[in-house]
Amino acid sequence: MANPRVIVLGGGLAGAASALWLARRGCRVTVVEREPRLGVHASGRGAGLIRQVLADPVLAALTRRGAQLLATPPGGLAALYAVTGSVLLASGDEVAPYRAAVASANAAGLACEVVDPADAALCGLVPQAGSIAIHTPSDGLATPAEVLQRIGDAAAAAGAELVLDAEARLEVAGEGLAVRAGGRLRAADWVVNAAGAWAADLVAAAGGASLPLVNYRRHLVSAPLTDAPSSWVWDVSRGVYVRPHPGGVMLCACDQTQRPAEDAEVDPAELARLRGVLRDVAPGYAELPHTEAWAGLRGFVPDGRFVVGADPQWPRLVWATALGGHGLTSCLAVGELAAGAVFGEPTPAELSPARYPAVEVRP
Ligand SMILES: Cc1cc2nc3c(=O)[nH]c(=O)nc-3n(C[C@H](O)[C@H](O)[C@H](O)COP(=O)(O)OP(=O)(O)OC[C@H]3O[C@@H](n4cnc5c(N)ncnc54)[C@H](O)[C@@H]3O)c2cc1C
Repeated sequence: MANPRVIVLGGGLAGAASALWLARRGCRVTVVEREPRLGVHASGRGAGLIRQVLADPVLAALTRRGAQLLATPPGGLAALYAVTGSVLLASGDEVAPYRAAVASANAAGLACEVVDPADAALCGLVPQAGSIAIHTPSDGLATPAEVLQRIGDAAAAAGAELVLDAEARLEVAGEGLAVRAGGRLRAADWVVNAAGAWAADLVAAAGGASLPLVNYRRHLVSAPLTDAPSSWVWDVSRGVYVRPHPGGVMLCACDQTQRPAEDAEVDPAELARLRGVLRDVAPGYAELPHTEAWAGLRGFVPDGRFVVGADPQWPRLVWATALGGHGLTSCLAVGELAAGAVFGEPTPAELSPARYPAVEVRP
């Protein structure tokens, strides 16, 4: 079909990146976003780490491709992240899978290596005995809201229409799908579901099969520091990361509390927990005042992998969701796959929504 009409549900990183690829491939694209601006939810609330070494090989391939695309984006965009390098710390049971992750990343052409923590820039984290450090020179940092805005602008420049402040409802219209938004029913040749935490509910409300999507809240804080590090470090075993942030540092204790799809709010108990964790892992940061604290939802399905590809029941519906904690790094890779699905190109079976049997349809 020449120039198919595609409606993208949700203007987060997944939706904006899908829209950019689709518009560049000649689709007539409309992105419908419920909020009055982009990045109100997960995509505007992330930590901005560009991370390519992951224990899961399927996700690692997506983050490598995503980082490559952020470095040299489509649509004439300048690089979307600053290369700073990164260090992961792993200990205990995580050592073997992370050594394997380094070997598989190297085999895929990514330069990264296991080094002695004593020789790594740990940015104030104190390693546990027996830890390994993994240095990835091409990892880096970005400002998520800026990345989203720039991808959204590039999609608009490529012809995508952005409809803000419009709650979308998916409807089945004869053989096809339509989207009701902003008081209009819009027919679509294809619909891309990039509605983040709300993606499963949106399809279930239309009578489709829902996905077992679960949303976990995570907190971040910023704190003032004159001598802030220049790159990021993540202890994956104890669940702490630190990155530079304007005026100081950004800190996270990797909390994950299951929540409904909602506008995530800060829970003071989690900020107290963060201080407790930092006293063990990075004592120099534990007592810093918090300049700002915020929380966001990260969406997962049970195997922890993204959901990208055509819906088994409604093949004109393409999912681009459940990007968990790596949606910034991988958004352009996800958008590339979602756009490919609209053109009938195969998406990896490991990401397909068909890997989950239809679950109970919620009212
Ligand atoms: C605290 C935190 C830290 C993170 N840190 C990193 C990191 O360092 N590196 C990294 O790579 N990733 C990180 N992530 C992950 C990344 O931010 C997410 O994976 C990504 O933002 C998900 O994008 P999305 O477009 O799927 O979801 P969202 O950004 O939530 O976008 C979905 C959009 O759909 C809209 N929507 C929903 N329902 C409707 C409807 N019915 N009609 C219209 N619009 C609708 C919503 O308003 C929303 O704007 C982090 C996430 C969090 C929460």
